[in-house]
Amino acid sequence: MKKEFAVIGLGRFGGSIVRELIELDADVMAIDISSERVDEYAHIATQAVAADTTDESVLRSIGIRNFEHVVVAIGENIQASILTTLMLKEIGVKKITVKAQNDSHEKVLRKIGADQVVHPERDMGIRIANNMVSNNILDYLELSDEYSIAEIKANDKLVGSTLIDLDIRAKYGVNIVAIKRGKHILVSPQAIEKIRLEDILIVIGSDEEIHKFEKKAL
Ligand code: ATP
Ligand code: ATP
Ligand code: CA
Repeated sequence: MKKEFAVIGLGRFGGSIVRELIELDADVMAIDISSERVDEYAHIATQAVAADTTDESVLRSIGIRNFEHVVVAIGENIQASILTTLMLKEIGVKKITVKAQNDSHEKVLRKIGADQVVHPERDMGIRIANNMVSNNILDYLELSDEYSIAEIKANDKLVGSTLIDLDIRAKYGVNIVAIKRGKHILVSPQAIEKIRLEDILIVIGSDEEIHKFEKKAL
């Protein structure tokens, strides 16, 4: 059976989630207060509905309870975002992901029980900044305030050596969880794996350790 999702708020962020979910073969109900926005998604989403989602009776009437995961992508109107999340929670939606506009918005969303709070502009800023200061860090995903996963391009200092030769975990505290090699990905590489040119290392560790590894090892 296909997974069923609902996305509330069809701005650039919500709209992109709708398109990608459809691409991934999921069923998606796209919801927005603006009927023009809804019209844009009539031919893209499985269903597109115009509704003010701050109104509990409206949410019930569109059957929002039946969706296993609902995304709230209302940005600018923080009040509407918070009220919508609260209503979804009251109705008993199992999983709610909400886009936060700023840190206090995020705090409120967590307090009222949002399961996942995302901060796309802030997170993308962090990723791009990391990419700007280092030519080797291709991508950066924060796991918490302290820990991250980074994609790091191997250079000639590493190529030809094994993980044991480089003694990466012992020296830098980071773990290589996978190596991307062209179209292939070696998950949990063995310690005797030799790094090749063009390899991309997927490294997990504290931000401090990752940066130490990136500066000292490469
Ligand atoms: P973007 O992702 O483009 O940056 P944004 O985060 O700036 O968008 P907005 O454009 O402010 O977000 O809002 C996203 C959508 O949420 C808009 O299309 C808006 O019509 C919709 N929206 C706002 N209030 C409600 C509401 N009460 N019920 C349903 N949809 C709403
Ligand atoms: P440790 O005592 O660090 O757990 P180990 O007993 O697991 O090491 P090996 O697996 O043989 O020993 O690895 C030897 C060394 O090679 C490790 O101490 C570490 O520095 C490095 N190493 C091996 N695999 C990885 C990896 N996936 N990521 C980072 N470093 C690794
Ligand atoms: Ca915006």
